[in-house]
Parts: sequence; structure tokens; C-alpha cells
Amino acid sequence: MNIEKNKVVSLTYTLRDGSALGNVVEVTNEQNPLTFIYGAGMMLPSFEANLKEMETGSDFSFLLKAAEAYGDFNPEAVIEVPKSAFADETGVVNEELIQLGKPVMMHDEEGHRMQARIVGITADKVKLDFNAPMAGKDLHFTGKVLTVRDATESELAHGHVHGPGGHQH
Ligand SMILES: [Zn+2]
Repeated sequence: MNIEKNKVVSLTYTLRDGSALGNVVEVTNEQNPLTFIYGAGMMLPSFEANLKEMETGSDFSFLLKAAEAYGDFNPEAVIEVPKSAFADETGVVNEELIQLGKPVMMHDEEGHRMQARIVGITADKVKLDFNAPMAGKDLHFTGKVLTVRDATESELAHGHVHGPGGHQH
């Protein structure tokens, strides 16, 4: 069975930063593969495009340029906020929340939750980076397709995979 829209695909992959020789960023193995519904908007479209028509046992190796992965790094998505942004309702700044590299959840004016990372700290300001962690990076994938099957009607209705590697309910 070949990979196409609405097939449930299980695969292993190794993600490297920039090229086949780059640092390993993520690894999945056969005990804990990536399982998803192909063409359901769960994965990067460029990632799926490279898997089209593959079948059980197919090996893959491809590079996604940053622009077709998580986008180019946007310097305007790095902003400074006063430390008071980390104050609790009594106005006390929670210094424990302010650590370099720490992910933080911020809210914009409309209340949308946005994930950022702390990339700089001064006496009274904190620098936040709202870019995706892999923004600006080319992604190199190698891996193997383990299984391909039809999605069930309930999986398509729920928009996620059931059973091993998916929701157990
Ligand atoms: Zn479900």
C-alpha cells in the first residue's frame, strides 16, 4: 500500500540540523515511531510531499530548506519586555521563571497564547524569542516507512490516529 491522503503512516526518522552531517536534533525508533494521518494537516506539507507514494520498507533521505520548514528566522520576533511582565498579581517578579533558554508562555493583547524562549536577561529587561526553535534552519531527514494502512472513519472524524502511537480511547 502506497502513502497517499488519509493513510495512517508509521515511520522512524532521524532529524539533523542543516545537512546529513549536522547535529542530531530528534530521533524516533521502531519502539516509538512517528504515526500520523497523511494529508490531514498534522505534518509540514513539505515533509509529506517527500513521502508521497512510498510504501512499507521504503527508506528516505531528504532536505527541507528553512523556508519550506519552519520559515526563516525573523529578527522582529525577538523582543525585549520589562521584568515586570513576569510579575504575579501582587506585583512581585518571579525570578525563578527568568532563566536563559527557558520556554515561557506569553499572552498577546487578544489573549492568544504564544510560546517564546528567553534569550537574554539584563537588570530590568528580558529578551524573548518567539521564533520556532527550528526557524531559519534547514532540516535533514533520514528514515524508514514501517507501516501504511487506511485510516478508519473514526480516525478521520477525530483528526488523529487511534491505537499504538495515537490516542487510546
Ligand atoms: Zn479519537
